[in-house]
Amino acid sequence: MPAKQKFYLTTPIYYTNGLPHIGHTYTTVVADVIRRYKRMRGYEVVMTTGTDEHGVNVERAAKKAGVPESEFVAKMAEAWRALWLELGIPADEFVRTTDLQHVRTVQWLFKLCRENGYVYKGHYTGQYCIYDNAFVNDAKPGDNCPDCGRPTETLTEENYFFKLSAFQKPLLDFYKKYPEFIQPESRKNEIVSFVESGLKDLSITRTTIRWGIPVPGEEPHVFYVWFDALTAYLSAVGGPDYEKRGMWPADLHLVGKDIIRFHTVYWPAFLMAAMLPIPKQVWAHGWFLMDASKMSKSKGNVVLPRPIADMLGMDALRYFLLREVVFGQDGNFSYDALLTRYNSDLANGLGNLASRTAAMIEKNFAGKIPKAGKLEPRDETLARQTQSAIGDVLDYFEKMNFARALESLWSVIATADKYLTTEKPWSLSDSEADTQRKATVLATTAELLRIVTVLAHPVLPDSTTKIWTLLGQSGSVSAVELDGLQWGQLASGVPLGKPQTLFPRVEKSEAIERIESMANEELNPTAPPAPAPTAGRSATAGAATAAAPAASEKIGIEDFAKVEMRVGQIKTAERIVGADKLLKLTVDIGTEIRQICAGIAQFYEPDSLIGRKVAVVTNLAPRKLRGVESNGMIIAASVGPEGRPVLAGFPEDVEIGARLK
Ligand SMILES: [Zn+2]
Repeated sequence: MPAKQKFYLTTPIYYTNGLPHIGHTYTTVVADVIRRYKRMRGYEVVMTTGTDEHGVNVERAAKKAGVPESEFVAKMAEAWRALWLELGIPADEFVRTTDLQHVRTVQWLFKLCRENGYVYKGHYTGQYCIYDNAFVNDAKPGDNCPDCGRPTETLTEENYFFKLSAFQKPLLDFYKKYPEFIQPESRKNEIVSFVESGLKDLSITRTTIRWGIPVPGEEPHVFYVWFDALTAYLSAVGGPDYEKRGMWPADLHLVGKDIIRFHTVYWPAFLMAAMLPIPKQVWAHGWFLMDASKMSKSKGNVVLPRPIADMLGMDALRYFLLREVVFGQDGNFSYDALLTRYNSDLANGLGNLASRTAAMIEKNFAGKIPKAGKLEPRDETLARQTQSAIGDVLDYFEKMNFARALESLWSVIATADKYLTTEKPWSLSDSEADTQRKATVLATTAELLRIVTVLAHPVLPDSTTKIWTLLGQSGSVSAVELDGLQWGQLASGVPLGKPQTLFPRVEKSEAIERIESMANEELNPTAPPAPAPTAGRSATAGAATAAAPAASEKIGIEDFAKVEMRVGQIKTAERIVGADKLLKLTVDIGTEIRQICAGIAQFYEPDSLIGRKVAVVTNLAPRKLRGVESNGMIIAASVGPEGRPVLAGFPEDVEIGARLK
C-alpha cells in the first residue's frame, strides 16, 4: 500500500515581545484551513508554528518585567500556545527557539555551512546605541537611535559572516527552475531584481547580544536573528535527523509580505550552503489594515481575535478573514464589514438554509431525509450547478484563492434559496403528487447542503460539524474525501440529528460595542472592583468564593456597613450571545431598576428566575462583564467542586428594596 503523500507547512515563528493580534491570527487561520483541506485530500499534513524568543528586544522586555529571560519567554510561549488552542488552531508542532532541539539544529546548520566554506570571520561596522546595547539596523553615522532617540556611535565588532554573495547565480537559477517557489507572482519580480542587483555577505553572529544561541567554541558569539529563527522550520521536524521524520523540505512557508526576502533569499541560500533540500514554496500574504493604516499597539488600533471569537464564534472570524480579501493582497479590517458578512452570509445564508431545510424535513417527513421522485429540469439544473461548483472550489483552494472558493460556495447557497422560493415546498398539499414533489425538492436541497458542508469544512470547521450532525450524517465531516465528493451520495431514510444553533443573528451596533468593550478589557486589564470571579472569566457572583480567602482576616462592623445589600426582584432574564455563563437580568431594587449580569446561565433557566426575590449588592461600582454593563451583584452560594451557584433567597415574603443587615 503506498504511503500517504506528505505536506509540511509553516506559519512564521512569531516574535514574542507581545501577544497575537488579528494579523498573526490571519496567517495561522490560513495555515489551518490549508491543513484541513489537504487532509481531506488524503495528505499526511504537519503544520508548524512557534515563538522566536531570542534577541535584544526580549532581553529588554524581560528586564522591564523584572524576570529572567528564560522565565519571560516561557510565559509568552505558553500564552501563544494557549491562545491558538483556545481559537481551535493549534499547530501540530509548536517550536520554541529556546528548545534544545532547535539549539542543536542551528549549531549543526552552522557547522555544515562552515565545513562547505560559506562562513568566515570578519568585522561588522554599524551604528550602535550604547544605551540600548544594540546595533541600529540601516542607520548611518549621525543618525539617532529610533528606540531611545539618543545619538548612535559607529562601532566595529567581530562577526561570523555567511557568504551570501556566492549565491546570486544559484538563487537566480533556482527561481527560474522552480517558478512557483515565490508566490504570489507579483512578489517574484521584486525578489529577482533584488538578487540581480547583487548580494552582500551577511553577518550571522553578534558578540554584543547575550540572549541568543551560542556559537560552539566561539563564545561570546551568539547567532543573530535569521540564522536562528528560519532554522526553526527544520528543527520542528527532526533537525539533523530530518530524514527520519520524512517531512522536510517544507511544502509551504506562509509569511507576511514584510519578511518574504528572508524566506526566499537568505533561507534557500543557507540550505544550499549546507546542501540540504530547499522548501517548495513561499507564499507572502498582505496585511489587514485598520482604517487603511497598519495595526499597531501604539496606535491603539489593534484588533484582537478572542473578543470576536467569543461574540460571533471563531468560524465567523475565519470566514471573514478568508472571504473579505484575496489571499496575497492587503485588506481592510472593520467591525462593520465583519458584522455585515456575519449577518448576511452566515446567519441569513448558510445558517438559515440549514435550519429551514431541516425544519421542513422534520415537519413533512417525520425527520427522515426523503427519497427524491421524478426529477424536473429545475432539479437537474441545480444538481449540475452544484456538481460543477465542486470542481471550481477545489481548484480555487489549490490556488489558495480562498475568497473565490467561498464566493462559489455562497453562490450555490444563493441558488438554493432561489430554488426554494420558486418551488415553495411549504405551499404544497398533502396529496400524493404534491408529497412526491415536496420530497424531491427537499431531498435536492439537502443534498446540495451536504456538498456545501463538506466543501466549507476547512474554513468553517465548527459549524459544518454541526450541520453534518443536523443532517444525520455518520462519521466526521473532516473524514470525507474531497476527491470522491459528488452529487447523489445522500442516502434517503436517514433520520436527522438534533437541531443545532448555527449563527444566531446579532444586532450590529450592539455587537460591535460589546466586541470593542471586551477587547478593551483584554488590552487594559484592571483589577475588578468586585470579588475576583471564579473559574477564569466566568463571573459567578459567589458569596462563598469571595469570602473564603478573607476568612482568616476579621473586619470591623464599619467595614461591613460599607456594603449595601438590598432585596431585589428579578424582572427580566435573558441569555447573552458570546457569554455562555452569563445571564443579563433587570432587577427592581425598590428605588430603581438595575441591569445586572450574573454568572449563573449554566444552572438557571432565564424564565425560572422572573419574579424571584434575591439579595443584591447595590453600591458596587458598575463594570462591564463580557462587554455588558453590570450595575450591582446578585449574592449566591458557591456549592460543590465546580462552584455551582445557588441564589440566596428569603423563605418569608420580604419587601422589595429592604436593606440587608
Ligand atoms: Zn537607543
